[in-house]
Amino acid sequence: MINVILIAPPFAGKGTISEYLVKTLGYSHISTGDLLRNEINKNSEIGKAVKNIMSQGKFVSDDIIFTVLEEELSDNKESLIFDGNPRNIKQAEMLLNLFKKKDITNYCVITLDIKKEDLLKRVMGRRICPKCGRTYNLNYKEMLPLDGNLCIDCKMPLIIRDDDNINTFNTRYQTYLDNTYPVIEYFQMNDVTVFEIDASNDLAVIFEEVKKIVSDN
Ligand SMILES: [Zn+2]
Repeated sequence: MINVILIAPPFAGKGTISEYLVKTLGYSHISTGDLLRNEINKNSEIGKAVKNIMSQGKFVSDDIIFTVLEEELSDNKESLIFDGNPRNIKQAEMLLNLFKKKDITNYCVITLDIKKEDLLKRVMGRRICPKCGRTYNLNYKEMLPLDGNLCIDCKMPLIIRDDDNINTFNTRYQTYLDNTYPVIEYFQMNDVTVFEIDASNDLAVIFEEVKKIVSDN
């Protein structure tokens, strides 16, 4: 099935959609973070270099990220979800070049459209189980906890993650607007089909739309 590049603001539900594509439609999730961690675990040459860079608190360069990605795309060429990359126009350009090099022609962008105030509502409604890590959302009817504040699995009272606050959200949202949002237009200019999904809908509606996009293309 068609490869999907998922682009969405923070908290719009990218993770949930990735999970749906993986579990229901057999997609493979391409996360550059996971690919780098694999290299570290394998103790490969790249893994050693990445470990060294990270231990100095530095960012792993795009060149290293794309070397690892290129290796991955040698055996894996379809039904892939690209989630979290590209984050900026330079990475989008590198990804299109890589597709060309690997002769990958069947891909599209799915972007989630949602208002900033709706995202903020979701952030403020997020709760997590301190025991099993399951996440809930008080402002999302499909993700409500038990009795208002208990984990359905462990019956533990839920907590709020440190990152789920207005300041962190505003910073991440602004970074998205400045760096990642322009990527959508970049892809359009390069003749990549972009499907926009209204992420304020119920999950069932969103999943139907996603399914239709990947089945029709
Ligand atoms: Zn739990």
